[in-house]
Amino acid sequence: MPKKGYKQTPEHIAKRFTPESNAKIAATLTGYKQTPEHIANSIAAQNRPEVKIKHSASIIGPKHWNWRGGISKLPYAFEFDNKLKDQIRERDNYTCQKCNRPQSDFKETLTVHHIDYNKKNSDPVNLITLCISCNVKVNKNREYWTKYFQAMVIKCDITKLNRGFNSSQIFSCCFGILFL
Ligand SMILES: [Zn+2]
Repeated sequence: MPKKGYKQTPEHIAKRFTPESNAKIAATLTGYKQTPEHIANSIAAQNRPEVKIKHSASIIGPKHWNWRGGISKLPYAFEFDNKLKDQIRERDNYTCQKCNRPQSDFKETLTVHHIDYNKKNSDPVNLITLCISCNVKVNKNREYWTKYFQAMVIKCDITKLNRGFNSSQIFSCCFGILFL
């Protein structure tokens, strides 16, 4: 660590982070002593077009964690109107799904939030009931809240739909492999 108040010149920094020193640092961090040739080879291997294609193929469609049976290919027929908002509030028992406080605790009507922040995606699995205060809070850490509410809504929809489904179907559904 450089001393406090000690200004490093660009030359100093360039000296510290040479390709050789970076390779040394990488090798000590992985616990596996890689030579600069190893590192260069593995980078080249990862960047080969056939490797990139294979990697993409391994995470698209049914293999993707958020796959829901191809519903994203269907045309959206959900209009984000008062009727749909009321249905979502009813599904969520007129309760904020973050702080769990009921509608009766608030003067204002509970809001209906777009989980993926895309206002054009009004599929009910992308909508959730929040109070105004929580709706403001979820504007930060968007990635975190998206995953948090997605898991919650998928489970919630299943609870309403699950009569007659066996546990493995419900389990698959919870992990987004199959949408029933
Ligand atoms: Zn709330």
